[in-house]
Amino acid sequence: MEEKIIYFDNAATTKIHDAVIEEMIDIYKNEYGNPSSVYDFGNRVKTIIEESRKSLATNLGVDPKEIFFTSGATEANNWAILGTARKYKNKGKHIITSTIEHHAVLHSAKQLEKEGFDVTYVPVTEDGILDFEEFKKAIRDDTILISIMAVNNEIGTIQPIKKIVEYVKDKDILVHTDAVQLIGKKNVNIIKDLGVDMLSLSGHKIHGPKGIGALYIKKGVIIQNLFFGGGQEKKKRPGTENVAGIVALSKALELTLENIEEKENKILELRDYYIEKVIDKIPFVRLNGSKQKRIPGNANFSFSFIEGESMLLALDMYGICASSGSACTSGSLDPSHVLLGIGLPHAIAHGSLRVSISEYNTKDEIDYLLEVLPGIIDKLRKMSPLYEDFIKNKGVN
Ligand SMILES: *Cc1c(COP(=O)(O)O)cnc(C)c1O
Repeated sequence: MEEKIIYFDNAATTKIHDAVIEEMIDIYKNEYGNPSSVYDFGNRVKTIIEESRKSLATNLGVDPKEIFFTSGATEANNWAILGTARKYKNKGKHIITSTIEHHAVLHSAKQLEKEGFDVTYVPVTEDGILDFEEFKKAIRDDTILISIMAVNNEIGTIQPIKKIVEYVKDKDILVHTDAVQLIGKKNVNIIKDLGVDMLSLSGHKIHGPKGIGALYIKKGVIIQNLFFGGGQEKKKRPGTENVAGIVALSKALELTLENIEEKENKILELRDYYIEKVIDKIPFVRLNGSKQKRIPGNANFSFSFIEGESMLLALDMYGICASSGSACTSGSLDPSHVLLGIGLPHAIAHGSLRVSISEYNTKDEIDYLLEVLPGIIDKLRKMSPLYEDFIKNKGVN
């Protein structure tokens, strides 16, 4: 059955580029040897892995020796945080992160608290940007690690990573960034530019497959292993390599970065058109997160008097995929910690809609969304007792 899907949930996961799938099929069919084997049929797979590592590193502007493949960004974040803390626990037991991190970071930090570490969760401003004054105050003599995301996955805000690195450069503190939502979005030497010690990325957010990612570890930086086993990934990350995933990750980044400026301009145009029309067509809305300091593909609105889940279900009837907060939090009744983090009251945070746009989206799709959304909001509001009270009190029609 051919099903028309209008996909606006690119911050949750993305469509795999066709050429990436083709490369994966080729690997699965023809290169199934074990890269650690002695015979050529296995050994040549090792070469394929190293070529992929080189291509990925080149596109990230780093040395291939600094790239370690993982099962995704969740593992990369866990590794960076737990691996650093456990390695340097005798030097200090304090870690700094923010209140709006992905759960892969927040829950790693919570685990460290159980292991006797002290964690400071630095708040963000109402614009969704790290409160730098609070960040400065959080630094202590026993701080060993700072982990702040490069771009927030829910509201798309860009965090001041370079400024953080600059600020602590004379201190003996490692800086990690979860750059899942930044990688593949700019064709510059992102990592060198940020100057971080460690950086996490994920395949399925850049039109690659799920279950593959990488941790960049700057030359000279040593952290503890998370897993124990064979000698793969220079004895730092054991387990038989996900060869098709590695090839796919590197190919996905290469293809995503092709004509990146053109793509980003198009995405930005669609996004700004959507934002403008929503504000124009729908009353009582609020754009969450800084308008300026945000990546092009993200638009996150709160619609007052509405329940996010019912909005998503209504959109689903039209074949439109979007998100309310983050995919990881749906199924839970608590509103998103990110929206609470920027100071939204519970009721407003509940009524949020994240539309995340990729190179595969078109203006027609945005127009279709804009055609159905106002009606959905209107209908849901008419069913809302809160809205009824509000209208009565204000005398608004
Ligand atoms: C998706 C995402 C992750 C998790 O990546 P996986 O590869 O799915 O484990 C981590 N951080 C951010 C910001 C994300 O958007």
